[in-house]
Amino acid sequence: MGEKADWRLLNDVEYLRDKCLNPTDGEEIAKHAPELKTCIFCFEKVQDSCHQRWFVPEDVSCCICEECYHDFKTMFHLKKLDGWDIGWD
Ligand SMILES: [Zn+2]
Repeated sequence: MGEKADWRLLNDVEYLRDKCLNPTDGEEIAKHAPELKTCIFCFEKVQDSCHQRWFVPEDVSCCICEECYHDFKTMFHLKKLDGWDIGWD
């Protein structure tokens, strides 16, 4: 990817800088936060599946797919939590 601008950064994602993210899966998102439909970066669809890994910030304002998490965690200083403190409400 290099220094070339990534099309996924054209979305409104700046507020995610330095955010802490909880790992979860598609099944949990479908159950607890059905309003989250797609990855905020690449628009990958959330599937109701425990085999699809996702990352959500503490305020559950969006979700990030596994690939984007790995691609952007350094650039955005994303911190991974243990997944036990998700405030689904
Ligand atoms: Zn993505």
